[in-house]
Amino acid sequence: MRGGRAHSGGRAGPAESRMDREQERPAPSSPAVGSAVCEGVAAERCGGGGLAALPCAMRHLPYFCRGEVVKGFGRGSKELGIPTANFSEQVVESFPPDISTGIYYGWACVGNGDVHKMVLSIGWNPFYRNTKKSVETHIIHTFKEDFYGEILSIVIVGYIRPEKNFDSLEALISAIQEDIEEAKRQLDLAEHLKLKEDNFFHLPEGK
Ligand code: ADP
Ligand code: MG
Repeated sequence: MRGGRAHSGGRAGPAESRMDREQERPAPSSPAVGSAVCEGVAAERCGGGGLAALPCAMRHLPYFCRGEVVKGFGRGSKELGIPTANFSEQVVESFPPDISTGIYYGWACVGNGDVHKMVLSIGWNPFYRNTKKSVETHIIHTFKEDFYGEILSIVIVGYIRPEKNFDSLEALISAIQEDIEEAKRQLDLAEHLKLKEDNFFHLPEGK
């Protein structure tokens, strides 16, 4: 089960360092620009006019997406203190094919729970020899329990940086911590805070 839609947005994200893929760092975020439906129905409006010139990391934002949390690759994210809730391959495939890999920030909600800040990585999925993307959300909140099988709703608001390789685990953790701090700062801006209240996060009873 998944669904979604979009509005307008900024830049963002968390991460797992993985394969490096050269992505150009987009210009500092500008609010909002595209639209998309996370349901395989690409409802983009950014194909023409001035919007076409926007970096791919930005023009699909804000991006709304909902899907089940599935088991990831067991790379030990939780052991690093940065668990990442993985979306299924089907949900990942519903993302715009040209969306940039890298680290993003936004809002997330598990089931009908509270909406929290998050960092998210769109990266290359090692399970498929890096031919497919994976989408992983680290929610900036301490949960009492795991929530595999639950429905995770996210709105990706902005872009932080491209994927990178790190020389050490310490360097990776420190980069993720910086991403988290950047996400927290960005999401406190009024233009981003308003998305926290979006109706998208209010699931109908029973869903
Ligand atoms: P996996 O490889 O299965 O994705 P992780 O080590 O990345 O394992 O842990 C992810 C799981 O941890 C999520 O699916 C979720 O059930 C749980 N979890 C607990 N707290 C968080 C959090 N703050 N953000 C994301 N996932 C969390
Ligand atoms: Mg994970």
